[in-house]
Amino acid sequence: MAYDDGNIFAKILRGEIPCKKVAEDEHTLAFEDINPLRAVHVLVIPKGAYVDWRDFAATASADEQAAFTRMIAHVADITGIAGSGYRVISNIGQDGGQEVPHLHMHVLGGEPAGPLVARG
Ligand code: 5GP
Repeated sequence: MAYDDGNIFAKILRGEIPCKKVAEDEHTLAFEDINPLRAVHVLVIPKGAYVDWRDFAATASADEQAAFTRMIAHVADITGIAGSGYRVISNIGQDGGQEVPHLHMHVLGGEPAGPLVARG
């Protein structure tokens, strides 16, 4: 799938719409989900234009990939959920239920996550 820079996270990255920022580094942005599903629900996105994991794994630099991984752990630390545990989810493509076509990880915590997935 080609990257569509009209997606909502691209607009957040360009500052065209606001977000509640949690953390940021050179390559990565973390912000609160607008429709939180747990007490803590943060989205972690690369600043680069990557649609999904395949795209990111194939074309992002080693520094971008390392920053993305580190940011997820950092978000868990600064939101206070690292000790009690949390869930990291990435929805990819149609069957994955991906709504926004810019790679993102959901970091969910602050209360039990529940079953891994609902039965289909
Ligand atoms: P997906 O279903 O693609 O994995 O998740 C997309 C997530 O983006 C959803 O959890 C949704 O609530 C969140 N989202 C959609 N639009 C906005 C927005 O404008 N701002 C923020 N902060 N989150 C959004």
